[in-house]
Amino acid sequence: MIPPFNYKVPNTIEEAIELLWQAGGKAKIIAGGTDLVIGLRNGDLSPQFIIDITKIEDLRKIVEKNGTVSIGAAVTHSEIASSSLVKKYGKVLSDAASEIGSPQIRNMGTIGGNIINASPAADTIPPLMVLNAMGRVVSKEGEREVPLGQLFKGPYKTNLKPHDLLVQITFQKLPPETKSSFVRLARRDAMAIARMSVAIVLQMEKRKSRIKDIRISAGSVTPTPQRMSEAETFLKGKSPDEESLQKASLKVSEAMIKRSGIRASTAYKRPVVEALFMRAMRKALEG
Ligand SMILES: Cc1cc2nc3c(=O)[nH]c(=O)nc-3n(C[C@H](O)[C@H](O)[C@H](O)COP(=O)(O)OP(=O)(O)OC[C@H]3O[C@@H](n4cnc5c(N)ncnc54)[C@H](O)[C@@H]3O)c2cc1C
Repeated sequence: MIPPFNYKVPNTIEEAIELLWQAGGKAKIIAGGTDLVIGLRNGDLSPQFIIDITKIEDLRKIVEKNGTVSIGAAVTHSEIASSSLVKKYGKVLSDAASEIGSPQIRNMGTIGGNIINASPAADTIPPLMVLNAMGRVVSKEGEREVPLGQLFKGPYKTNLKPHDLLVQITFQKLPPETKSSFVRLARRDAMAIARMSVAIVLQMEKRKSRIKDIRISAGSVTPTPQRMSEAETFLKGKSPDEESLQKASLKVSEAMIKRSGIRASTAYKRPVVEALFMRAMRKALEG
């Protein structure tokens, strides 16, 4: 049984951070509830207050401004998947959002909840890593802009304090010629958490068929979300032929092992992350 709690529904960011501050660490934020309610049901969480942020209009908008796109923390995956702004300037994210869970989960689950739950398998995180996204966090103590990767301490752990509220995620618009892809491996297409995923954005040189710039991130392969910088550096300036891609795929799996160590799962994960990377590269190049 879920223990009793006080349910608060602020209408503004200011009200929400005041409530979080007054609760002195005894509150949990709820957005879609698709992760939180599981924690409440199985007894992992027993907050005195639950603060529902879904009525705060400022957290529910997708806004284009000064070459950037900002997504409010309480925007749902369905809204991201169908946003013309995100499709145009950060397609890797709308592609990922459209593959999350099921229509019901996408209609309830939010980008902020996906980030702060900090699951290594969270589908929006590798795309946000390759978009160089920044998170804006506010509390009664002030406001800060944090590169997405720095929000995480470990699996299911963030650097946020209990009274912090993630309000939005911002990324620079990708140029129109950008190619991108998101691929995930799961037991089924729907209603299954990804075993591993890879997100890529890349730009090709205008005349020569060489890679000008590339960003790669993989989900569920490192303790905290990271970019695969060794493979990125290797591929820059190269033609994306089969030989270069194969070599880069080894750099991706080597980076995974360097950052996570050799584990029981490594024998499985090494070839799979290499294959997923190859699939993601081919999809991006074709796209
Ligand atoms: C059946 C099922 C299938 C799923 N499939 C997938 C999938 O395919 N891919 C995937 O990535 N995930 C999946 N999930 C997980 C979940 O749906 C997502 O992580 C979702 O985005 C969580 O968002 P939410 O709004 O429901 O978060 P909530 O459950 O409301 O919150 C999650 C956590 O984040 C905190 N929080 C929420 N918003 C904020 C904020 N703005 N500031 C600070 N803290 C905040 C909450 O306090 C809580 O700790 C699935 C879940 C279920 C139940």
